[in-house]
Amino acid sequence: MQNTSGNKWLGSGWKMHRTLSEAQAYAESLRTFVEREHPSVHLFVVPPFTALSSVCRILSGTQVQVGGQNMHWADHGAFTGEISPLMIRDCGAQIVELGHSERREYFAETDYSVNKKVLAALQHGLHPLICVGETAVEKEFDVAETSVQRQVKIALHAVPLDNIRSVMIAYEPVWAIGEAGSPAEPDYANHIHGIIRDTIALTYGPQISREIRIMYGGSVNLGNAERFIQQSEVDGLFVGRAAWEVDSFIELIKLIR
Ligand code: PEP
Repeated sequence: MQNTSGNKWLGSGWKMHRTLSEAQAYAESLRTFVEREHPSVHLFVVPPFTALSSVCRILSGTQVQVGGQNMHWADHGAFTGEISPLMIRDCGAQIVELGHSERREYFAETDYSVNKKVLAALQHGLHPLICVGETAVEKEFDVAETSVQRQVKIALHAVPLDNIRSVMIAYEPVWAIGEAGSPAEPDYANHIHGIIRDTIALTYGPQISREIRIMYGGSVNLGNAERFIQQSEVDGLFVGRAAWEVDSFIELIKLIR
């Protein structure tokens, strides 16, 4: 089941990188580029919270959307260190990244907490960017598909039909992410994207499933981006290290526009 809708997506999550002034300089350069070139790509960046409002201000009115890296599901409360959907909206962000494998591994995020966050994000008009992916062990034991299906199914539990099109998915095999990772084979990524789309179709039907944007993430770089983006089920790329310098992000944009 193939996605047929329009331009590709390209986003970068900055993790715990970039001071305020570095983030501002990145956003200024990106703004200059997109205002001059208007590339035919849906773009977004996901800076750390300390730079969120500033990056949103710099990129407002451009084609670049901005996201938060995580969120609590409650509007407010005694949750020291957490950020609420209201606060993310207040900064001017449109997207919130949820369930990244580092959140799951180091901060005890579960499929069930991701689901609460997805529902809260949708209630507040944010696009949840739900990260899913199997671990190396799950792949080795041949349960990658089952693991990803479970993550998608639970993350989307009780998401109303009216809201489902706001959801974005990043397929990020855990073994492919970061310094120790190596990229998936593009046809393997394409296969799992198809599994994700079929899982969504079971609840929402094939038509809607085709409209959900599913991006690949995990050691994407200038050398392999094109091969991923050419896959029939891959709607875009979610990039870490290879897009942390604005010049590299711009090169990636030029490659896939
Ligand atoms: C990520 O951690 O979401 C990611 C895609 O990282 P990288 O591109 O650096 O592997």
